[in-house]
Amino acid sequence: MDVKNVKGIGPKSLTLLKKLGIETVNDLVTHYPFRYELLQRTPLNEVGEEDKVIIDGKVESIPILLRFKANLTKLNFRLVTQSGVVGVSIFNRAFLKSSLTIGENVIVIGKFDKKKNVITASELKFGSLGDSAKVEAIYHLTSGLTNKQMSTYINTAIMMNKEAIIDNIPTPYQEKYKFSNKRTALNIAHNPPNLEKLKEASIRLKYEELFEFMFKINYLKEEKKKKENGIHRDVKREQLEEFIQTLPFELTSDQIKATDEILKDMNAKSKMNRLIQGDVGSGKTIVSILAIYINYLSGHQSALMAPTEILAIQHYNNIKELLTQTGIQVELLTGSTKKSDKELIYHELENGTLDLVIGTHALIQEDVKYKNLGLVITDEQHRFGVNQRANLKNKGVSPDVLYMSATPIPRTYALTIYGDMDVSIIKEMPKGRLPVKTTVKKEEEMKEILESMHEELKNHHQIYVIAPLIEETENSDLTNVLELKDKMNLAFGSKYKIDIVHGKMATGAKELIMNEFKQGSINILISTTVVEVGVDVANASMIVIFNAERFGLSTLHQLRGRVGRSQIQSYCILISNSDAKRLEVMEKTNDGFEISEEDFKLRGHGDLFGTKQSGDMTFKMADLRQDYKILMQAKKDSLDYLLDDSNQKESVKLRLIESIEQES
Ligand code: ADP
Ligand code: MG
Repeated sequence: MDVKNVKGIGPKSLTLLKKLGIETVNDLVTHYPFRYELLQRTPLNEVGEEDKVIIDGKVESIPILLRFKANLTKLNFRLVTQSGVVGVSIFNRAFLKSSLTIGENVIVIGKFDKKKNVITASELKFGSLGDSAKVEAIYHLTSGLTNKQMSTYINTAIMMNKEAIIDNIPTPYQEKYKFSNKRTALNIAHNPPNLEKLKEASIRLKYEELFEFMFKINYLKEEKKKKENGIHRDVKREQLEEFIQTLPFELTSDQIKATDEILKDMNAKSKMNRLIQGDVGSGKTIVSILAIYINYLSGHQSALMAPTEILAIQHYNNIKELLTQTGIQVELLTGSTKKSDKELIYHELENGTLDLVIGTHALIQEDVKYKNLGLVITDEQHRFGVNQRANLKNKGVSPDVLYMSATPIPRTYALTIYGDMDVSIIKEMPKGRLPVKTTVKKEEEMKEILESMHEELKNHHQIYVIAPLIEETENSDLTNVLELKDKMNLAFGSKYKIDIVHGKMATGAKELIMNEFKQGSINILISTTVVEVGVDVANASMIVIFNAERFGLSTLHQLRGRVGRSQIQSYCILISNSDAKRLEVMEKTNDGFEISEEDFKLRGHGDLFGTKQSGDMTFKMADLRQDYKILMQAKKDSLDYLLDDSNQKESVKLRLIESIEQES
């Protein structure tokens, strides 16, 4: 129901409400206060000079209006309070003069000048405080709309527009949790009688929000399972096993589990939509190769998309080697592939001679046509915009989709962005890996840091050094790559080879340096965060990160994942002169999931990824950082409710399903 049906909302307010995104009665009543103010009477004899006070009383004198130059006005009157008579002054509220009649009850909030016995009011409300404290709702507003108006509109709607207020908690759960009805809960949320009742009401409102949300996710997931729009394969486990036997190592049990899940998905009639989540170095790539192999066995083409050119190249080199015995034809396609090569690749994708193409976003450009694309793999998928992902998916008839992410994300947040995906988690690290040892250091400790670096170099190990900037910029005293190169040259230049790689370099140059580092001819690689994702040099045993405070914990964890990729003991040194407390988490744990939970608590979801994925967390009342338990309960209940056949005709179910169908 349109919000204009609420009594008292005129055209002007209507426009202002629209600005706040309030279009329906439901939007209005769920425009929850962003904070509450506790209105409790201040005993005037106990306060200090100039303290903020809240006091109520009766107007004792007719207000006197004083006018100053330039529209400045002041109203003065006396107020009889429980703490005696005080003077009240309020600026620029001349219009109140006529309503402040003698004997009127008013509440005054403002600064109390004890010597003069005068309160300079910042706020004045009609009414009295009563004996217990009063909690007042404070709303997000837009200029032209007052808190009072907002509160009035909301309360009018709750009182008079009963039929427009939607309650989406099914009766069995209302009863099970002894929830109050929606209107009562809304009324409490907007006019809390006390904090206890407010808490009760907000749990109920949060549960409803999360129930709606989880119902939707469960519904979409179930619908996908029912659809038979996927490629129907019949690949046998034994066929796959033959290939697994040729690998240079044994798969971990998590890798085997993920592979089996993928095989099952790919053989099923519905489309695969799976995410492999696993810490850096956990070995996701090989799992994706097995998926490619399954796809190849059924005669389909695969595309693997990486977020950066460096990574695409690395994947290409690794994968090509592992696939040599299979006969799978593979090419690399990136932005810097030569035009003539590109055209050949396009041609071979179209006529089907190519089985696998690995690349960057160049893979999804308009002119790339596939003969029979059966599998799309996206590495580090959060780095691609949602649109890019969709674009690639649409290339084939209905290719299976596999995402790989090395950014462990908090459990609750995973539900909101990967909600309708199936997830395989690889937690177990390949055998023989030693956890990276991490220490937080200050810049003053540079001598010691250089000594530790020297130890590693003497043992023929390699080192990454990371700085937040490429070159010196004005107004920034952050460490930069070029400056570090000089520093490192001074310390180690006579014996060791030092080079730099950064995002502004041409691809060819970057590739050259990465290759030299990989082959071991460069000992120290200084870099910006371009090496963050997936770059794999097993002999690198140390990473030193300057201005570590500049990075989110998840980014630091990703960077740290560049080392510890073999049997040698590896080290991570975080250099920072501030924010040491936050960085300590890195010293304590190597578990990416734990770190992401911590990051989430500290900085919210926006910082988990380099780029913000806005619009992911659209809850009005619930906060995933705190409401995990409610979310999990709502998740379970909504699935039970969805799968229950006896309630097909219930209005809540019909309504929820209808709204999902309308959206999608
Ligand atoms: P990520 O999950 O970060 O993508 P990779 O797939 O790049 O990790 O694997 C990291 C390294 O571990 C690679 O060098 C890979 O060859 C190796 N590796 C993967 N699985 C195993 C295993 N089961 N045993 C030993 N080494 C493995
Ligand atoms: Mg990887």
